[in-house]
Amino acid sequence: MSAIVLAVVNQKGGVGKTTTVVNLAASLAEKGKRTLIIDCDPQGNCTTGLGYIPETVNSSVYDVVVLGQPITSATIPTAVENLWLVPATLQLAGAEIELVGLPRREYRLSYALEALDEVYDYVLIDCPPSLGLLTLNAIVASVGLVVPIQCEFYALQGLSLLSHTISLVRQSLKPSLVIVGIIMTLYDARLSLAHQVVDEIRDRFGDELLEPFIPRSVRLSEAPSHGLPITAYDPGGKGTKAYLAVADALEARIHSLFPTISAIPEE
Ligand code: ATP
Ligand code: MG
Repeated sequence: MSAIVLAVVNQKGGVGKTTTVVNLAASLAEKGKRTLIIDCDPQGNCTTGLGYIPETVNSSVYDVVVLGQPITSATIPTAVENLWLVPATLQLAGAEIELVGLPRREYRLSYALEALDEVYDYVLIDCPPSLGLLTLNAIVASVGLVVPIQCEFYALQGLSLLSHTISLVRQSLKPSLVIVGIIMTLYDARLSLAHQVVDEIRDRFGDELLEPFIPRSVRLSEAPSHGLPITAYDPGGKGTKAYLAVADALEARIHSLFPTISAIPEE
């Protein structure tokens, strides 16, 4: 058994990366999977969304990736059983520059995670909306990517950029990189544009597209201000149901993609 490490990426901002990391991770945790969130975004949205104030945490992703401290010393519990967090602080903003001069600068998170292999079933990494060294560290450390896509016109442009990035990363750093899943976010079935975007993504990424789509929901946008994932803030609500179902779809896809590493014993 080894941890399935997934980087949640999209260079576009505000597409639902953080919302997906927190709520997908909480859904996996609710299914009894030991899950770790790594907040690799200096904005620290996962950290605040799980009820921590970045300025007050003792240790963060910065200490792990830049200073080389063990990840266990930066791991903190959350209000949710089976869910842990490595928080981000503003210090992490400097990491993009500080990492440039460090040895094996794209592999530092990957090395840090090796120590955790037996501890977690899943590790989900939240990335900033850019392709800097933090995102590259996340990608190199993961077996594959989860890509949230907002159902809007510019989504397809963003996806072309992402495809280009993936081929560059495959050539230079990680030949085995795959897209594990695409998750449609902020979905509003009443909008014909949403259908057009989904149709186009399905044409290009039929296997990767995970269902159901995540609906636009006020509850999902409110939950972080209460420091809770949607599963705790609105159990039984439509956002919770959607993320629980997407977690099932993700697990099924992982089992088919990586049959050897996903031999996670069922509860
Ligand atoms: P960034 O690129 O800045 O890190 P992001 O991709 O992580 O952004 P989020 O922070 O998850 O995106 O979401 C952007 C905004 O949209 C947030 O205010 C969030 O609460 C809201 N949001 C995300 N998903 C939904 C949803 N399904 N329904 C309603 N609001 C949502
Ligand atoms: Mg975010």
